[in-house]
Amino acid sequence: MSARIDLLLLLPFALVPGARNVLAPISAPAPPPESFGYTDFAHELNLEDRFMAVPDAKLAGEHMKLLSAEPHIAGSPEDRKTAEYVARKFRAAGLETEIVPYRVLLDEPVAERVEAWNDKGRLLMSGPAREHIASDPAQDDPRVVMPFSSGSASGEVSGEVVYANYGNPEDFDHLAAEHVDLRGKILLCRYGANFRGVKALQAEQHGAAGVLLYSDPDDDGAGRGEVWPYGPWRPETSVQRGAVQYLFRAPGDPETPGFASTPTLPDTARSTHYTGPGGSQPGIVVLPLSAHDAAPILAALTGPIAPEDWQGGLVTRYRLGGGVHVHLLSRQSYRRRIIWNVLGRVRGSEAPDEWIVAGNHRDAWVYGASDPVSGTAAMLEAVHGIGALLRQGWRPRRSLLFCSWDAEEQGLIGSTEWVEDHPDLDAHAVAYFNMDVAVSGSDFSASATPSLKEFLRSIARRVPSPQGGTVYQQWRTAQAGAVPHPPRDEPEVRIAALGSGSDYTPFFEHAGIPSSDISSDGAYGVYHSVFDNYAWYTQNADPHFAYLRQMAQFFGLEVLRMDGAAVLPYDDAAYAHEILTALDASRRRAGDAELDTLDFARARASASRFLAAASALRAVQFSPPRDPAQCRKIDLALRQAESALLSPSGLPGRPWYRHLIFAPGETTGYAALVLPGVNEAIAARDPQRAAAQLDQLDLSLAHAARLIEEAR
Ligand SMILES: [Zn+2]
Repeated sequence: MSARIDLLLLLPFALVPGARNVLAPISAPAPPPESFGYTDFAHELNLEDRFMAVPDAKLAGEHMKLLSAEPHIAGSPEDRKTAEYVARKFRAAGLETEIVPYRVLLDEPVAERVEAWNDKGRLLMSGPAREHIASDPAQDDPRVVMPFSSGSASGEVSGEVVYANYGNPEDFDHLAAEHVDLRGKILLCRYGANFRGVKALQAEQHGAAGVLLYSDPDDDGAGRGEVWPYGPWRPETSVQRGAVQYLFRAPGDPETPGFASTPTLPDTARSTHYTGPGGSQPGIVVLPLSAHDAAPILAALTGPIAPEDWQGGLVTRYRLGGGVHVHLLSRQSYRRRIIWNVLGRVRGSEAPDEWIVAGNHRDAWVYGASDPVSGTAAMLEAVHGIGALLRQGWRPRRSLLFCSWDAEEQGLIGSTEWVEDHPDLDAHAVAYFNMDVAVSGSDFSASATPSLKEFLRSIARRVPSPQGGTVYQQWRTAQAGAVPHPPRDEPEVRIAALGSGSDYTPFFEHAGIPSSDISSDGAYGVYHSVFDNYAWYTQNADPHFAYLRQMAQFFGLEVLRMDGAAVLPYDDAAYAHEILTALDASRRRAGDAELDTLDFARARASASRFLAAASALRAVQFSPPRDPAQCRKIDLALRQAESALLSPSGLPGRPWYRHLIFAPGETTGYAALVLPGVNEAIAARDPQRAAAQLDQLDLSLAHAARLIEEAR
């Protein structure tokens, strides 16, 4: 999946630390140099030059064409073919390759219907209309899956329509203030601003009987510019498919939260109780709709006029509801099916038990040219470059693991099951590098664990941009242009926090592995539709595959530079600084919520101790010891400090999410919530829970600090 949400448009408090916390200014540690962690950086630069010469735009374009030639939804024969293609390329590069199956619950749409009537019983629409335009070379393939909301309940329901804008909590607050009763209603929500599963959960929690999710032309269609096939934006019959799983509770196979759906796992070991308000899937019917099908419904509403910022591009006046009844039917066949991850390994020469993991998903809702074939094509060219180095006799210091995940679209299933299949992963994996929609345009963007942010910037300074200069220069120029007055404390390009919506989620938020996600973004109106295909991609996103090459170089350098370092180049001082900043923001929020008695002092002292320890360890990372055994000891401490930030029992109400510093927000889905346990307790005005979460944070930070102190 991976939908980019503009962080600046996003609401709350804890999203990006540094926004409004001036309580106790803590000066940020100076960024470390690019040679951080290295004894011989000149040697590394030489190796990187040799690598960067290999990824090839033309070959990347061939991967793109082949892998997006057929619809390849998870578990289909065409998906299996793409797995074999990736496995062949991995083997050709010299990777030890295997196709690893899991048996997971997947749903397939059998029938989708929606009909609407006005109060007088006049039929307003009967659909869904076919996702079709005058000319598109790929739209008529019979294997194209009909638009549906994966994870929806299977059934039918009727009710009066209420328009709920984006389905954000404040939208529901507004409806409540207007005394709109949502019980038994069908909510019409537009896509955008949050993850679609958030809309479904909010609707379910408010007692709605069903949800229609539609694409408003003002968000990604004609209101933004020319629509496909004349431009990149969404045509009126186009529909955004997608999972409505409650992935902020637990991603992966809904029947096996916390353990792996191996092919031999007996059915009796699986849980069938996963729907409903406490579960990981909606208990109500959810259906996606095109702008074409939503328009007659919106036009016939008779209730109060909706607020100015609820207005969209379909009719002149959006109203809150009233006067329209709809009937929804969504029939899906749920069954357990085999999916295929592809794994390619290179054994490390010096530290084989330290794994550098890099991956992207391979399954697509339909053709998936941008989502995710651009990621796979770029990964394959990175692997091509690694293969060339291997042929020249180079061996990695650590073990490398390249992964092509399956069934990401239905809920990060392939990656989650694999992570759950490796309960000792945090003892091995030193980093996870992700791509998903690698290329939909020319604007570079990244999210990462704070300890890797400067690492990513240093790679951006190395990789050439197709626009001239480096990725870093273009990135900085684009960000400066997008924000007229960048905050004074942000002298650097901004890297977002990891929330959810792609395969880094199990690595980072369940297993505690420092992670990153990179992409090159643009006007991408065909997300999760039949039109995200080769013709759209070559006309709009990347005609010469130059950005596939850029992303291959970037992705490969992430792996190589992490591998070549004598000691891991984690910048824990920056991490500790972000935690301190977030704690001060939480303290302000606690004050605003009249929870002044909450004691932040101990957690803050432990975070300061972590900062001091990490700052002192920098001296060692600036000039690492020559003795490999010493280096392994430091790596171990750095890795264990990351694991110390996990809670063994998980976050309250969602034990699968174990990271104490970052989690996807229950009301945002894609965007990250910082200090989730503490901040959610404050938002719920639950002082006992908040205090318990602060205690746990204090213990974890003190533990992390001790590990780093002992490493020196
Ligand atoms: Zn994706």
